[in-house]
Amino acid sequence: MDLRSHCPYWLLKNGIVHSYPSLKQQEKCDIAIIGSGISGALTAWHLARAGFKVIVVDKRHVGTGSTAASTALLQYEIDVPLVDLVQKVGEANALNSYRLCLEAIDSIGNICSIVEQDCSFRNKPSMQYASFNKHVPKLHEEFEYRRKHGFPVHWLSDEQVSKKFGFTKPAAILSDAGAEVDAYKLTHSVLQYCMKHYGTKVFDKTAVKHIQHSKLGFDLTDENGFSIRCRKVVIACGYESQQYLPEKVEVLHATYAIVSEPFEQRDFWHKNSLIWETANPYLYMRTTNDNRILIGGKDVPYTNATERDQQLKKKVATLERSFAALYPAMDFKTDFSWAGTFAGTKDGLPYIGEHAGQPDIYYALGFGGNGITFSAIAGEMIKDMITGKKNKHAAIFKFNR
Ligand SMILES: Cc1cc2nc3c(=O)[nH]c(=O)nc-3n(C[C@H](O)[C@H](O)[C@H](O)COP(=O)(O)OP(=O)(O)OC[C@H]3O[C@@H](n4cnc5c(N)ncnc54)[C@H](O)[C@@H]3O)c2cc1C
Repeated sequence: MDLRSHCPYWLLKNGIVHSYPSLKQQEKCDIAIIGSGISGALTAWHLARAGFKVIVVDKRHVGTGSTAASTALLQYEIDVPLVDLVQKVGEANALNSYRLCLEAIDSIGNICSIVEQDCSFRNKPSMQYASFNKHVPKLHEEFEYRRKHGFPVHWLSDEQVSKKFGFTKPAAILSDAGAEVDAYKLTHSVLQYCMKHYGTKVFDKTAVKHIQHSKLGFDLTDENGFSIRCRKVVIACGYESQQYLPEKVEVLHATYAIVSEPFEQRDFWHKNSLIWETANPYLYMRTTNDNRILIGGKDVPYTNATERDQQLKKKVATLERSFAALYPAMDFKTDFSWAGTFAGTKDGLPYIGEHAGQPDIYYALGFGGNGITFSAIAGEMIKDMITGKKNKHAAIFKFNR
């Protein structure tokens, strides 16, 4: 599957962060993780720290799947508003999903501080504005509900939006909790740390062709016939994980992002918050630590990669126009643009854990706009599942829920 167009900003900015060998002999470990994106890296993190001998394997270069294309806003607010999620999955599960995402932001921040590499992690407020007047009542209901349940939110009137953000919108929710990161750099940093401190092995340019059950566990065989023998397998293949599942769990979209040339100024709006809106599909924005503005969104249903990429030019112009409508005085010049595919699910929540009929194979599928925070949750949960520790939230993200 072609996951993204060629030149996402993070890949160009960081280049080849580290190199890893391909598989050239038979290997053995406790747990093999297929996929070296942010999901594979964060799962390796938790499993390696729990004492398991882990091997991570990827058919591409490390981190160059969807992770390299990610715009990497870390939000506890998922694509489905909390009040709607309650209707879909019940109050307890909805609240716990939001709370787990909130904790995941801190967990990622903590990992960034342990790996001691600059992964551009910054805590940032997150602001969601009402795109239209008619969206205000629903947004206010969301605000009241979140406030009642202890989420760190503030209501902004049209005047406050204008004062803090410099554009005119009818109202907004301002959340204190959010963050941004460089997911590609974080992936490498986490894997490097695991290699150095826990003996984790990472092989890239190694496509797993067969997963075969044996008496001793599994043999994962690559296209050259080399294999990895392991007791358990983690599937962290991003949107290519669907191939291992008997039923369809993902809904694919094409999405687009642009990054400006660097600006002279450092401060663009209130604390350089993450910004998004209530319209669907939504526009979102963040800043980068080299004084650029990143804008994304304008999603459409995914048909194929050629069509997705053919629309890039048109989508760049649309994103630029949307930004200009908010900030007409800012001279936004697009420096980088790219298209990506991403998967959503029926309820906006990820799938984590074993699938019926596939024992000892664990899925870390952080599908949805919050893929990175979901990956952090998946890593921790899979570690609990494998170590036999009861995780009281595991049922929220199970298959066939
Ligand atoms: C444009 C864009 C913007 C986004 N913005 C955000 C955002 O702001 N915030 C957020 O939280 N999320 C965001 N996401 C989602 C987030 O980026 C993804 O959820 C996340 O990167 C997925 O990581 P992953 O490790 O699961 O998948 P990937 O990064 O795709 O990694 C999976 C890896 O598995 C490997 N693989 C697949 N099959 C095999 C095989 N058979 N053998 C070996 N290796 C295999 C692939 O090569 C790939 O490298 C965005 C996504 C896109 C595309």
